[in-house]
Amino acid sequence: MTTTQDMRQAVHQIMPTVIDTLKQLVSIPSIATQGYPREQVLEAARTTEAQLKAAGFQQVRQLEELSGGYPAVYGEIDGPPGTPTVLLYAHYDVQPPGRAQEWNSPPFEPTERNGRLYGRGAADDKSGVVAHIATIQAFEGRPPVGIKIIIEGDEEFSSSLSTYIPQHPDLFKADIIIIGDHGNITVGQPTLTTTLRGYAELTVEVRTLTDQVHNGVFGGPVPDALVALCRMIATLHDKNGYISIRGLDPNQQQEKNTLVEIPEETFRKAAKLLPGVELIGNAALSAQLWTGYSANVIGLDAPATSDASNALIDRARARINLRVPAGQSAERALELLTQHLETVAPWHARVAISDSHASNGFVAKTDGLAYTPHLGRGGPGCLHSWPKRER
Ligand SMILES: [Zn+2]
Repeated sequence: MTTTQDMRQAVHQIMPTVIDTLKQLVSIPSIATQGYPREQVLEAARTTEAQLKAAGFQQVRQLEELSGGYPAVYGEIDGPPGTPTVLLYAHYDVQPPGRAQEWNSPPFEPTERNGRLYGRGAADDKSGVVAHIATIQAFEGRPPVGIKIIIEGDEEFSSSLSTYIPQHPDLFKADIIIIGDHGNITVGQPTLTTTLRGYAELTVEVRTLTDQVHNGVFGGPVPDALVALCRMIATLHDKNGYISIRGLDPNQQQEKNTLVEIPEETFRKAAKLLPGVELIGNAALSAQLWTGYSANVIGLDAPATSDASNALIDRARARINLRVPAGQSAERALELLTQHLETVAPWHARVAISDSHASNGFVAKTDGLAYTPHLGRGGPGCLHSWPKRER
């Protein structure tokens, strides 16, 4: 039998190699976004392929036929007869590095500081790739279950898996899926994310005039479109910061007892909140984050301050994103948001809604083979109960 203690020891032993593997991947600027060098993304695909092979994966190959721009890397390990198959997912592409002056060390030179490794993709999601590889290494390439692994190459830009998977169902057939592409609540505390919110998103355009006119001449009685839009946006929350969209119940708290509370200080730091800025909404953080709605403005079309002139703005647009708790209909939330905006528009301003999208959230089953809240007690899904493989 493989015990938790065995695993701890095995992980401890391989850790230096695991960090080297991560550094090797982080050194490659695999930015799949258009306009960045293609060769470097392909180099990350080849490196990932080699790393999977070295860890003991079989039938490792690049899935070139993905319709997106870059290949996914795929591999398998057969399990002992009768054991379940686990599908592992991560991605090797990364976001562009952003502003150079905000990095304390170059984004593609992985750098250790205070026991942490810094570099673009060191967390999202090359740590996911390496965590999967390390798990297989800890089992010396012979895990007690069957494994399939898919490492995607353009997740950050335009994931093409949603069309590829239905065309190749056998490659992805599994009893359990583990997506290694999310964070831990705090350093050193492994976290299993079992629910993700969905979203409803739209663009709202407000017009009050047929053209811009001088605000010195017409300002006062004539409403400008941007003020009208701002007033509409202000109705999305009440004075405490709760969602106040007509028809949406802000207090969705299903499965509350399964939520893990996050220490406020840890959360404020992770959220990069400025000192003294208040958190909004009075419910517990976990409830707000995982079973509550949120409403945010994620884009705004209005004259830039550098182009500002003494004119009444005739039209303004905002992109509004609602996060919708799993179990609630994202389509319905989109309808309610649309109706709300049309209703609250002041002064009979013209409102047009466009580019609407909605996608439901997700809740994983938490009573199956894969989910054992107390690893080590020997429940049916626990590591203990699977036989150690013959070496
Ligand atoms: Zn990611």
